[in-house]
Amino acid sequence: MTTITVAKGDGIGPEIMDATLDIILAAGAKIKVEEIEVGEKVYLSGNTSGISSASWDTIRKNKIFLKAPITTPQGGGYKSLNVTTRKFLGLYANVRPCVSLHPFVLTKHPVMDLVIIRENEEDLYAGIEHQQTDEVVQCLKLISRPGCEKIIRYAFEYAKQQNRKKVTCFTKDNIMKQTDGLFHQVFNEIAAEYPEIENEHWIIDIGAAKMADTPEAFDVIVMPNLYGDILSDVAAQITGSVGLAGSANIGESCAMFEAIHGSAPRRAGQNLANPSGLLQGAVMMLNHIGQTDVAERVHNAWLKTLEDGIHTYDIFKEGTSKQKVGTREFAQAVINNLGKTPEILKPVQYANSKALELPQYKRKQPRVKELSGVDLFVHWTGTDPNQLAATIKQLEGETLKLAMITNRGIKVWPDGFQETFCTDHWRCRFLPAGQSVIRKEQIVELLQNAITQNIDTIKTENLYTFDGKAAYSLGQGQ
Ligand code: NAD
Repeated sequence: MTTITVAKGDGIGPEIMDATLDIILAAGAKIKVEEIEVGEKVYLSGNTSGISSASWDTIRKNKIFLKAPITTPQGGGYKSLNVTTRKFLGLYANVRPCVSLHPFVLTKHPVMDLVIIRENEEDLYAGIEHQQTDEVVQCLKLISRPGCEKIIRYAFEYAKQQNRKKVTCFTKDNIMKQTDGLFHQVFNEIAAEYPEIENEHWIIDIGAAKMADTPEAFDVIVMPNLYGDILSDVAAQITGSVGLAGSANIGESCAMFEAIHGSAPRRAGQNLANPSGLLQGAVMMLNHIGQTDVAERVHNAWLKTLEDGIHTYDIFKEGTSKQKVGTREFAQAVINNLGKTPEILKPVQYANSKALELPQYKRKQPRVKELSGVDLFVHWTGTDPNQLAATIKQLEGETLKLAMITNRGIKVWPDGFQETFCTDHWRCRFLPAGQSVIRKEQIVELLQNAITQNIDTIKTENLYTFDGKAAYSLGQGQ
């Protein structure tokens, strides 16, 4: 018996959760349900994160969380509970199988069967944003080696367990050579440990286009957070319905399972909603807790029900569908089909689908890190980079010299183009003349000089080399 935490959520949440629990209990799930309240009511009671500390305790105690969609109230600084839960509980892997159910659910991609594994904790979702000048705001994209290693290893272990043949990596490392470059590099390192699994890398833009056009060319796709967020919705949508997909959020100790759709408030309370997405989440949960036989029974009964043409309104199509049913009737039909397997759709087999056990991340030997310069970012409302350079040059110390000015990453001094559009946000790069390493005190001197000269420095970024290799971007145009 496994105790799981359940949140029935908002909108259609309670109806689809009741249907899901009815089905899995009828299938023999050995679970004890402990219910918590999260979502709209909690938000509106004045709790901006939508969850009480007692509910956190329950989730952390039980470690397994089955969650219905919730409504995040508009405005008012309410935080997304999903993002909060994923980050606080370290749920680093978001797993979304996207399988078409042709000919029972209409799709342009009848043989699609892929799984998107999305990094779930970092990237632009670190949520570190600043406005620095009148015209420019920034969002920090943080990619870490442990983050990359965990998610990429998860993708390969998942492929191995599920007998999948290929893992594809999507990044934009032709542009983001440090962040996406690290993701790609770690992908290559880990792929080498799995010679039995094919691996490939696509630049995200053409990869996304290929996935939307020819999804059958892919098997498992692993990617950083933002790309995964967008492309997992695209992949689910092109199977024929986002309403049918579930997702698992897996961490080292806790895991959360859900439907990928929202709370569909307009459909709430009318016995209309399709419980399939949450049921798919529950199937993943059953596998995760080792009740693979129950997961298999539920999934196959669900496939059989779709094959029987018993469909909720969202997938009902004259000709293909036989009976339009509500949430409760759909659940009953799945229960009636427990023990049966589909005849046209491919039945699932889950004997080997228990939770993956991955090695703990091991920190590598630190590399030789040396300070080799600094980027000084300034707020300046002039337009001529040569004029800025003349001012900034007055900050130079004995050895630290102005080497370059860029605006939004494009080199504008020396030898800039007049045509380059400039904002009020300038990066001034200082490098040492005649030596390769600088002292931190030189940066402090630089900043002190900037204050004296009334230059509005908004931030600095230290330039480092690791094992002698420059680990920062160069200005475009260099
Ligand atoms: P939505 O997914 O709730 O609805 C999109 C469309 O799909 C609607 O037409 C809806 O009626 C339909 N739909 C969705 N699920 C369905 C189902 N199971 N059966 C039948 N039809 C279904 O997206 P939205 O309208 O953008 O968002 C509504 C609310 O849900 C918002 O408050 C949003 O913040 C929240 N939301 C929550 C989650 C979550 O908790 N995981 C995810 C996304 C959105």
